[in-house]
Amino acid sequence: MRILQGISSVISSIKTVADLHSQLSRVHEQNAELRARVGQLERALHPEGELQFAEGVYWLLRDGKRSGPYCTYCYDVDRRYVHLTAGATKGTYGCALHGANFTTAEQNPPSPAIAVSGGRSIRRLLRDW
Ligand SMILES: [Zn+2]
Repeated sequence: MRILQGISSVISSIKTVADLHSQLSRVHEQNAELRARVGQLERALHPEGELQFAEGVYWLLRDGKRSGPYCTYCYDVDRRYVHLTAGATKGTYGCALHGANFTTAEQNPPSPAIAVSGGRSIRRLLRDW
C-alpha cells in the first residue's frame, strides 16, 4: 500500500513539474512579446534613434552614429526635435525657436597633459608648486 502511495506521489510531482514547465514557457513567450512591444513603443517615441542627454544638449544615436545637438527646452516642453544652430565660436549653439544658447564640450575640451623634463606634466608641476 505504501508503495502505491509513493508511486502516486511521484506521479503527482511529475504532473506539477510539467505544469510549471508549461507555465514557464508561457511566461517566456509573454516576456518576448512584451520586449518586442517595448521596442516598438521606444521606436515610436524616438523614431529617429535613441535620445541621449550629454554636454547639456540632446543627441540622437542611430546605428552607432550621433547626430545633433538638439534643443533641450524644445524637446522637454514640446517634444520637438529642434536642431541647434552653430554659433561663431566652436562648441556654442543657439536655438532659433526660443533663443537659448548652449555650450558643449567642444568649446572647453580637457587640456592635454604636456610632458616636460622628467616625465612630469605641467598640470602636476602646478599642483606640486
Ligand atoms: Zn529651443
